[in-house]
Amino acid sequence: MESTPVNQTSPSVLISVLCNAMKDLPQDKSIGLLIVHIENFDRLVSAFGHRMGGNLISTLATRLRETIRARDVAMRISDSKFAVIVNGAHNDGHLMLAAGKMSQTLEQPVTLGDHNVAAASRCGMAMSPQHTTSAEELLQHAETALLAAVENNTAYELYSKEKSNDIADALGLEIELDLAIARGEFELHYQPKISTESLTPCGAEALIRWHNPNRGLISPDIFIPMADRTGRIEPITRFVLNSALREAADWPTHWGELSVAINVTPTVIDQVDLPGMILGALGMWGAEAARLFVEITEGAIMANPEASLQVLKELRDLDVHVSIDDFGTGYSSLAYFKNIPADELKIDKSFVVNMLEDAGDEQIVRAVIELARSFGLAVTAEGVEDAKTASALGSLGCDRLQGYYYSRPLPQQAFIAWLDDFAQTPVADNSRS
Ligand code: C2E
Ligand code: CA
Ligand code: CA
Repeated sequence: MESTPVNQTSPSVLISVLCNAMKDLPQDKSIGLLIVHIENFDRLVSAFGHRMGGNLISTLATRLRETIRARDVAMRISDSKFAVIVNGAHNDGHLMLAAGKMSQTLEQPVTLGDHNVAAASRCGMAMSPQHTTSAEELLQHAETALLAAVENNTAYELYSKEKSNDIADALGLEIELDLAIARGEFELHYQPKISTESLTPCGAEALIRWHNPNRGLISPDIFIPMADRTGRIEPITRFVLNSALREAADWPTHWGELSVAINVTPTVIDQVDLPGMILGALGMWGAEAARLFVEITEGAIMANPEASLQVLKELRDLDVHVSIDDFGTGYSSLAYFKNIPADELKIDKSFVVNMLEDAGDEQIVRAVIELARSFGLAVTAEGVEDAKTASALGSLGCDRLQGYYYSRPLPQQAFIAWLDDFAQTPVADNSRS
C-alpha cells in the first residue's frame, strides 16, 4: 500500500490537527506528540546544497512515515523539524518505543550524490491528557522535552514539569533574560474576559511571550518561575505593567473602557514596591487605577500571608482591583481567606476544562462561586473551551468567562481586530466552537 506523504505545514496547522485529534479521543486513550529535530540538517545543506538537502528530507520523511502506524500523523513543521502525532497511545512506554524506533530508522545512512551521510536526530515528547489538555501547550511541552534531550545529550526525552525547571537553569536562560527586555524580545498577548451578564467583552488579561532569537518561543511557565527564583522578575513586571497600560489605551471602546489584568509573582509582592511602581505607571500613561487588575495566585498569598495582605490592601486603597488567580489550588484556609482584600476570584482552568465530565470538578466550581458570592467577590472562570461549559458557568452564576472558546491570547493588533469583529458579529459567531 502506498503510504500518505509527509506534508510540510506550519505549527499553527499542527495545533489545529492536534485539537481535532484530541476532540475525537476515546476516554481511556492518550495522544502523544513527538517533535523530531534533524540537528545536522543546516550543516548538510551547507555542505551539499539545497537540492541535496531536499532529497535528504524527503528520504527521512518517507522513513518516518514507514515507521509509524496508519492512524498516526507525520508532518514537517519547519526546514529541519517533523511532528508525529501518535493517536490513541496507551501509555508513555508506547511513546518511548515509537521514539526509539524512529531514531534508529532516521540515523541509517542516506546517499547524497557520491556520499553516504547520516542524519543526527533528537526527539521531544509530550502526552495529552497526562501533561495538558491544550494543543498549544502540548506542542510547547514537546519542544521543552526536545530542549531537555539536547541538554542531556539523549536521543529522546519525555516532558515533565521538573525537567522544564532544570532546563531553564541549565540553558543559561538567566543571561539571555537579562538582555531580553533591551532587545525587545518580550511581547504581551491579550486574552479577553467576557461578562456573562452582557455577553460582551469587559476586560483582558495580559500574558507575556518571549521570542528568543536562538530558541524560538519560550513558555512563560518556564521563564517566569525562573525569573522569580533568580531575582529577575522586577524589570519584567515593570515592562508588563507599562506595556499593558500603554496598549490598553488604544483599545476600542465599543463597550466602554475594558479592564486590563497583569500577573504578579510572590517575589514581586515580597521584595518590590508594587504599589509605588503601579502609581508611577498609572501617572505616566494617564490611566485610571480602577481599570487595572492585579492577579496574584492563591499559592503566592499563602506563601507569605502577612506581606501579601498588606500589599493587596495598599493596591485596593489606590483603587486597583485585586484578583486571586488559580483559586482552588492553593489550600488557603477560610480563616485567612476572609481577610484577603480582593475583588475577584479566578477559578483555575484545571477545574473548568473538564467540569462537564467530572462531577468533582463541577462541585469545586460550584463551591468557589458560592464562596465568592458570600464574600461579595466577582468570579472569573479561566479555561472555558466550549459553548456548553460557558453556558453551564453562566447558569451557576459565574460573572466573567475567559478561554479558548472566545479567543486565545492575541498580540495587540490582532486583539484590537478581534474586539472590532466582536462588535460587528453576534456572540455565538465570535466563538471558536
Ligand atoms: P495563568 O495566569 O493561569 O494564565 C492562564 C493560562 O491559561 C495562559 O497560559 C493562557 O494562555 C492559558 N489559557 C487561556 N485560556 C485557556 C483555555 O481555554 N484552555 C487552556 N488549556 N488554557 C488556556 P500562558 O499564557 O502560557 O501563561 C502561563 C502562566 O504564566 C500564567 O498562568 C501565569 O502564571 C504566567 N504568566 C504569563 N504571563 C505572565 C506575566 O506577564 N507575568 C507573570 N508574573 N506571570 C505570567
Ligand atoms: Ca493569571
Ligand atoms: Ca491559572
